[in-house]
Amino acid sequence: LTRDMFVRNGIDLSPNAKTVLERRYLKKDIDGRIQETPAQMFHRVARHIAKAEKNYDENADIRKVTETFYNLMTDFRFLPNSPTLMNAGRRLGQLAACFVLPVEDSMEGIFSSLKNAAVIHKSGGGTGFSFSRLRPKNSMVGTTGGIASGPISFMKIFNTATEQVKQGGTRRGANMAILRVDHPDIMEFIHCKTANTELNNFNISVGITEAFMEAVQSDAEYDLIDPRDRRPVARLNARQVYADLVEQAWKNGDPGIVFLDRINRDNPTPELGEIESTNPCGEQPLLPMEACNLGSINLAKFVTGSADAARIDYESLKETVWTAVRFLDNTIDMSRYPLAEIDRMVKGNRKIGLGIMGFADLLFQLQIPYSSERALEVAEEVMGFIQAESHKASFELAKQRGTFPNREKSCFGGDSQKAYRNATTTTIAPTGTLSIISNCSSGIEPLFALSFVRTVMDNDKLMEVNPYFEAVARQQGFYSEALMEDIAGAGTIAHMDGIPEDIKNVFVTAHDISPEWHLRMQAAFQNHTDNAVSKTVNLARDATVEDVRKIYDLAWQLGCKGVTIYRDGSKENQVLSFSSAK
Ligand code: UDP
Repeated sequence: LTRDMFVRNGIDLSPNAKTVLERRYLKKDIDGRIQETPAQMFHRVARHIAKAEKNYDENADIRKVTETFYNLMTDFRFLPNSPTLMNAGRRLGQLAACFVLPVEDSMEGIFSSLKNAAVIHKSGGGTGFSFSRLRPKNSMVGTTGGIASGPISFMKIFNTATEQVKQGGTRRGANMAILRVDHPDIMEFIHCKTANTELNNFNISVGITEAFMEAVQSDAEYDLIDPRDRRPVARLNARQVYADLVEQAWKNGDPGIVFLDRINRDNPTPELGEIESTNPCGEQPLLPMEACNLGSINLAKFVTGSADAARIDYESLKETVWTAVRFLDNTIDMSRYPLAEIDRMVKGNRKIGLGIMGFADLLFQLQIPYSSERALEVAEEVMGFIQAESHKASFELAKQRGTFPNREKSCFGGDSQKAYRNATTTTIAPTGTLSIISNCSSGIEPLFALSFVRTVMDNDKLMEVNPYFEAVARQQGFYSEALMEDIAGAGTIAHMDGIPEDIKNVFVTAHDISPEWHLRMQAAFQNHTDNAVSKTVNLARDATVEDVRKIYDLAWQLGCKGVTIYRDGSKENQVLSFSSAK
């Protein structure tokens, strides 16, 4: 540990965190032997990201900044997205999780995009594509006199390529495909995932326009438009299309929807182009050829005061936001982007996406039920604070480092109050792995289960109980192994005897929470997020198609940028199930 001068012994890693790091994050030699400890990994990342300071101040104290970043991560107050943990200071050096690639309407365009996607997947990044520019199926191909096969057939090629490129030997590439609702092949797209099992590496979303939603309201027809000349080529009944996409989403979760006009209303650089797609999980709308690195603050770590007077420690949160913004801004400089054009786009806008995880854990500690007005207030307050502080931090950074180069061309152009270093600062990611590493609840999601049985490698069964719930159960004297097992089986404590009512109110899980509350929470966070919010609206298995339609309607009414639903049991391989989660 020669360089790890300030590595404290005993980073507090849960067994699962340790396993995840060993499997995917720690440096390995050619024979797969692990070459670094978790402490060395965090040090590698901290040191690499701190080096960017030299770009702005040749006397910068890299050691001190390294230590600050190291402590930030090893206290699990903040973690950068997975590619940064995996690749910082290593050969690949690609640090961003989110990319959007253009797909031009030509063979050259399609296959150069395919190649770029493969390179990005190799480095652990996810890619979003809009296939809306492709000419519809059965159009003429000028150079050959043949017939075009349309967006969906090309999606299959992207899917196959993804299947073959395991990401950097770690995770499999995730893709988002978006097709505008006014593309002539929209009906085929809406049904494409049930018809094709070979699109399993794609999330799909329909790009919804305001014109379409108005046509749904007034039960009117709307135009389908040929993307090559923007001429209307057919008309469809908007309600029928909406009914079809809602029914498909009810069947298997896809397609989601994204509100393109709304996303573009918040596009800080409309002069540089229109936003056509998001990254795979929907939280990061980007221009074609743009990338963004994300990072998440673990809110579970910002509670202070005694158990019955617990409150958020805003002083400490502020400090973390400022350090995290600096960290993410540095990351832009230290990342090696797979293409010169992406490098140029990223460094022109310098978007970063600071978000949160551990929100459900925060509510447990504050003893506030997730599905309550009070929880919405906390969401608005805490995210409002993070957004405002991140803007201030970005403004201060700009004084030292300059504003993002495209600022004059951006919507902040003439406003000296908005001389930011970064075109955007906030995004709420799913934090699928970051939350395991930090041992907290993921993103802004409620807990999936208070206790569950995890089958470990040698088929041993391990009971895992949420630590806040366990603490309360022990303190109030109703803890028992048997009860925890019952809870793991039931997935909820709502109907259990022997648990006090006030505890039942606070310790709600995903399925105790109505879809409306899921969505209201998403909207509360969206109100204070520059980019978008990753959230899954969970529905019970017996939810109806009509329930799904209400959710989609409500997402539009509440000002969300998109919505993803998941009805229990509607996908064959459900990742988590109550009593036998992996
Ligand atoms: N992502 C990906 N493959 C994966 C998981 C995630 O490409 O297997 C990308 C994708 O763009 C997603 C983003 O990383 O939207 C953030 O996901 P998450 O927060 O779950 O990642 P983490 O940093 O926790 O690994």
